[in-house]
Amino acid sequence: MIFFLIGSLAPQITRLSSSPVRCPSCLDPSPTVFLNKSQNKLSVFFIPVWWFKPKYLWICERCKWTGSTRPNDEQVRQREEAELTLRQRQPLPTWGLRKCKTCDKEINVSGRIKYCPYCGSPVQV
Ligand SMILES: [Zn+2]
Ligand SMILES: [Zn+2]
Repeated sequence: MIFFLIGSLAPQITRLSSSPVRCPSCLDPSPTVFLNKSQNKLSVFFIPVWWFKPKYLWICERCKWTGSTRPNDEQVRQREEAELTLRQRQPLPTWGLRKCKTCDKEINVSGRIKYCPYCGSPVQV
């Protein structure tokens, strides 16, 4: 019985050197998905005695998305486009009117206005 208590089975994940790709889940603009090799290792008395057949997984460093196949660039692009249309359909958040500290004119500060449309100075939100 002692054998079963000391023996352990743990997957070992190693990142393989391959060019990363973009994540279809978090849509990070930079490539965050790396190819990893996951291999189950059976250890007895902390000595690996058996290595199982490896599995190859694509794992996103950012959101931990995991896939068995390489994320398709076209798929990522389509999801991004869908997300963008969804965002455009929603009205922009309005934070109300604010006075420009430089020219004293009233500006309707929405989420996208960073500069005063009258004098061009940055709007502090
Ligand atoms: Zn991700
Ligand atoms: Zn101004």
